[in-house]
Amino acid sequence: MALEKYKQKRNFTSTPEPAGDPAVVAERAKTSGSRLFFCVQKHLASHLHYDFRLEHKGVLLSWAVPKGPSLDPKTKRLAMHVEDHPFEYGTFEGVIPEGYGAGIVMLWDQGTWAPETDDVDAALKKGDLKFTLDGYKLKGSWVLVRTGGWGSSSGRGEGGRSWLLIKHRDDWSGELDITEFAPLSVKSGGDFENILAADKPDVWLSHRPAKGGDAGKMFEAIIRKAAALKAGAPVAKKAPRAKKAPAAKKKSTTTKKRP
Ligand code: MN
Repeated sequence: MALEKYKQKRNFTSTPEPAGDPAVVAERAKTSGSRLFFCVQKHLASHLHYDFRLEHKGVLLSWAVPKGPSLDPKTKRLAMHVEDHPFEYGTFEGVIPEGYGAGIVMLWDQGTWAPETDDVDAALKKGDLKFTLDGYKLKGSWVLVRTGGWGSSSGRGEGGRSWLLIKHRDDWSGELDITEFAPLSVKSGGDFENILAADKPDVWLSHRPAKGGDAGKMFEAIIRKAAALKAGAPVAKKAPRAKKAPAAKKKSTTTKKRP
């Protein structure tokens, strides 16, 4: 049922992505309260985006967020509702060599989430889901709101796929650009090139998942770095700290210690 679309899009003989075990759905569907899983997977494919996933009824409700989450309540981030993913997908990190979603997946954040409502299904139907996150990078209160306009309730075509992910103002909001400040994996600690180097860095020598644009340039650099890492050659260290976090940190909230 819920994972039909997910399965239709993939060939499990050629993708390392989990196929989705019905037994896991049944087992996880019993999960409730504060033990619900959430994750954000940074996914470089035809375009860079962040897949935001909330566990619900044994599967992962999923939204593709092109610019990633923002801790600034004034910055509403477009989130395209996509097909449910298997629970086992939530900790996946690796290289999808070809086919749907071909590219590199990084586990950018994970933790638990709790709905701020008793009825998640009703909130989803209404297009207004408030919730609390407890991840490594993302915390506090958030909301996903379905946008009006094209097909919010008409159900035609792409109807209702377009949502906004917004941070509520609280101790965990602030002006810090979290995607810049904390760009690496919470699973391996690495960047895209490290994930590729751990796999088969020559997988895209002939045809990359994206050739032009920003994604094409990113792939080019990542493939080069991964090949050097694999060959054991010294690679110019990426210095995540060199990038300055926003200078003005008037808000003590943004400097709160994260685990
Ligand atoms: Mn994706």
